[in-house]
Amino acid sequence: MKKIKTQKNKNIRASAKKQISKSVEKKVKKIEEQVEVKHKSGKTFNVLRGMKDILPPEEKYWRICYHAAENLAKFFQFGRIETPLLEEANLFIRSIGKGTDVVDKEMYVFEDSDGEKICLRPEATASIARAYIGHGMWNNSQPVKLWYWGPMFRHDRPQAGRYREFFQVGFETLGNADPSVDAELILVAYNFYKDLGLPVNVRVNSIGFPEERQRYKTALADYYRAKRNRLCDDCKHRLAKNPLRLLDCKQEQCQSVKEDAPQIVDWLEEESKNHLMKVVEYLDELSIPYVLDPTLVRGLDYYTRTVFEIYTAFEGVENTSAQSALGGGGRYDLLAEQMGGRPVPAGGFALGVERAILAIKQFNELNKIEMPQESPDLFFAQLGDKAKKRAMKIINDLRNSGLKIGYNFTKDSLKSQLEIANSQKIPYALILGQKEVQDNSIIIRDMESGNQEIVDQQKIKAIMLKKIGIK
Ligand code: AMP
Repeated sequence: MKKIKTQKNKNIRASAKKQISKSVEKKVKKIEEQVEVKHKSGKTFNVLRGMKDILPPEEKYWRICYHAAENLAKFFQFGRIETPLLEEANLFIRSIGKGTDVVDKEMYVFEDSDGEKICLRPEATASIARAYIGHGMWNNSQPVKLWYWGPMFRHDRPQAGRYREFFQVGFETLGNADPSVDAELILVAYNFYKDLGLPVNVRVNSIGFPEERQRYKTALADYYRAKRNRLCDDCKHRLAKNPLRLLDCKQEQCQSVKEDAPQIVDWLEEESKNHLMKVVEYLDELSIPYVLDPTLVRGLDYYTRTVFEIYTAFEGVENTSAQSALGGGGRYDLLAEQMGGRPVPAGGFALGVERAILAIKQFNELNKIEMPQESPDLFFAQLGDKAKKRAMKIINDLRNSGLKIGYNFTKDSLKSQLEIANSQKIPYALILGQKEVQDNSIIIRDMESGNQEIVDQQKIKAIMLKKIGIK
């Protein structure tokens, strides 16, 4: 009997697989047809809505952000973790929670060809908790401190500073419930912007544990229900679905209602209140500019106790992204348990890289700060076929010398090559013509004074290192 059942199941699975692969084939064919139509109509391809290419001129901003994060991670001893871009959809549904915007509206969920429901990660904390449990990291010395950098995906309405693919850098500390963990995380987040030269401040709150929050939610909903006719349509909806989100509303008409709303701190038990106070004492000691914001609740279900967000603290920023946080985080003491692991008190935060870059650009523009140009130390100009070949060899030989070398082998005239050197404010040019190739010499031209000297090709590395001041 059992055998027959197993066989039957196998058959069902095989036929389901066949159906899925047929439907995938169909989908692929449809896409191919659409591509063909697009191609025939002479249309080019565009980047998807809410996604973007990051081109070389932008790269310097990305690099400084990455280095700022990497340096902090080294100093505060967070180990780098990479998790896959694709995860089981349920991982996020279970952790972030139904009723949140991310899960209800924004996840890129699809079935793969095995019929598994997977999604592009909308955030990384749940993945990290999964990794912590999966790799049995409770056996490591606690707390386990991890950091990450990578793309996240949310199918939201794109606007300035809001993309469907965006990068987050995040730090997570798992395995300890002490308020010093929360404070250290806030310190790292604050230092990230400080090191980038950005003035920011921190908003802090506690949303307690679920029982405390549930009591507060009831009181909040009662309060808002009595004022229902003064609320915007979104808030009417929130009132029924997720009352905490009422506090997120930015609509003018809801502000006066919000001002007198009950505050969560009055619903917290002594222990949660003390935890928040201890975090705040650290912030005072560290002179981190913060405000206690009773309306700060964060959008995801897994947070417990401390929550915080970071905002720009400079005037003149006008686009809508300025009203949204640069980053945020908090404690999530129950997440590992919710995901089937043992209890692991933990906390973390994620910062939006695009928003940090936008803030750097806005701050620089307001303060007339120019990003340092990264021009080469010297420009290599060549004249004639033989010189071009030799130039490529010398440049390659100088590759590990520490010298940054500019060149353009598609330009043949000396004038146009020196113009490039001039336009990039490169202090020295090396000039190699047919004659120099023959007698193994090379000309060094000081681009500012126009003075030239002829030197032995063998000595060029030592001479240039000295001139540029590289030891
Ligand atoms: P969250 O955990 O959703 O608050 O996200 C943390 C940070 O990631 C935000 O404060 C933003 O800086 C950034 N972020 C979130 N969603 C987006 C998005 N759609 N586009 C760009 N950045 C985002």
